[in-house]
Amino acid sequence: MRSVNALVAGEQVSPNGSVLDVVDPANAETFAQVPSLDADAVTRAVDAAAAAAPGWAATPPQARAALLARTADLLDARAEQAIDDLRREGGKPRAEAAGEWGKSVATFRYYAGLAGALDGRSFDGGTPGFTTVTRQEPIGPTVAITPWNVPAASPARKLAPALLAGNPMIVKPASATPISAWHMVDALREAGAPDGVAQTVSGSGRVVGNALALDPRIAAVSFTGSTSVGLDLKHALSHTLTRIQLELGGKNAAVVLADADLDAAADRIIAAAYALAGQQCTATSRVIVQQDVHDALLERLVARAEALVPGDTAEASTTYGPLIDEAQLDTVDGFVRRAIDDGARVVTGGKRLDLVGTWYAPTIVAGVDRTSELAREEVFGPVLAVLSVTDVDDAIEVLNGTPYGLSSAVHTSNLHHAWKVAGSSEHGVVAINGPTAGIDLPVPFGGFAASGTDSKEHGPESLRFYTRLKSVTWGWA
Ligand code: NAP
Repeated sequence: MRSVNALVAGEQVSPNGSVLDVVDPANAETFAQVPSLDADAVTRAVDAAAAAAPGWAATPPQARAALLARTADLLDARAEQAIDDLRREGGKPRAEAAGEWGKSVATFRYYAGLAGALDGRSFDGGTPGFTTVTRQEPIGPTVAITPWNVPAASPARKLAPALLAGNPMIVKPASATPISAWHMVDALREAGAPDGVAQTVSGSGRVVGNALALDPRIAAVSFTGSTSVGLDLKHALSHTLTRIQLELGGKNAAVVLADADLDAAADRIIAAAYALAGQQCTATSRVIVQQDVHDALLERLVARAEALVPGDTAEASTTYGPLIDEAQLDTVDGFVRRAIDDGARVVTGGKRLDLVGTWYAPTIVAGVDRTSELAREEVFGPVLAVLSVTDVDDAIEVLNGTPYGLSSAVHTSNLHHAWKVAGSSEHGVVAINGPTAGIDLPVPFGGFAASGTDSKEHGPESLRFYTRLKSVTWGWA
């Protein structure tokens, strides 16, 4: 049994007393334990972050950037163990785990190169002899609350910009997947981060996450997770001035028009629909296909979905992973059963796989009514809903017919149609002849409507959330 710590106020807290069991969903084995902390640990963590904040804010951005670069090297050095932990806690095939880990380390290197982005502007206004300059300043202790589906990538894309901007950060990882976040704060400690600058507090979201977010000394909360918990947090903070960034769910769609390259479209749709077994905020969850090519596309999608290989996640030949737990499997199966009741038909999958662990077959449901639950609500599992439309205008109407607005794609060889869909899409991300998932690091990422607060992660834009802008006017005449 692996024993993994939390890091609070510069101290490694080992899993004695109350613990969280970490289960590998690919084989139902409990393989690790972490401490399940309480409100006392939250107070100690916030005390330490508050004490560290002035010193870290006064550390020059280049020195903070150097810490991130050293951290990236240390994360590389522990990659073998960390990838294995990520593979097991998240139930990810090894290539998927290695890909997420590599992108997470690259996130630290990317922000290590962005110290110069903490710049300002100068104005010579209407008053002679006066010039104003703007400064991007740190805001104080911050909290990251992260989901189980990307246990490494989500903490990385919050920790790196928060620390570069001069703020301590406390990470509350999802209870199902608490190990990758600890690797990151531990590497930051090893790289020389002062006590309190980077911490993890593992434990229940309702207890630890809530107490962290509501502590009045916390300047900002970056939350990635479900829309319902995100909205509850926003409500709980509504009487405070604590900043909150919400990165929430999606009902992402790929539009496929009659003139698309159907093989290329099918490749991209399948990759984005079934990576992480569909448990990805940007997973393709709907295919909106022009009726002329409906059958031809469906045939290609089914062939590719049925070629995915579930099994031992340590094997290179495994290309498809399990769901995180039984509750998620029941949720996914419930969506499929209700879609059948709504008149849709399962073309492939639609059932649990006969393997130990929580496995559900890659599923395609056709004949989905555009007003039905499966067309509008996030499943967060390996279920692709296929909807038929008449033309590009009809496709746009269906594309925007959900409460969400995270990611979308259009497949076409017609430039006019491509830009018409991109310009009309009510989603924060649009890919033309590309997948809905897999956003590059410099690209601003975040959703509209029920998908979040439109406060971007990734890229230099991420630094805005973690800084405040001060205008300094000086008279020189
Ligand atoms: P979740 O249930 O909302 O949990 C997310 C995090 O919030 C976990 O760390 C959880 O801790 C914590 N939490 C739960 N209740 C809380 C409370 N009352 N106060 C404070 N924290 C609380 O979401 P999930 O099931 O882990 O993740 C799946 C969701 O995340 C999907 O909807 C997916 O679309 C979304 N997501 C969005 C993005 C994006 O960038 N837009 C990326 C990835 C995932 P516990 O684990 O201890 O409950």
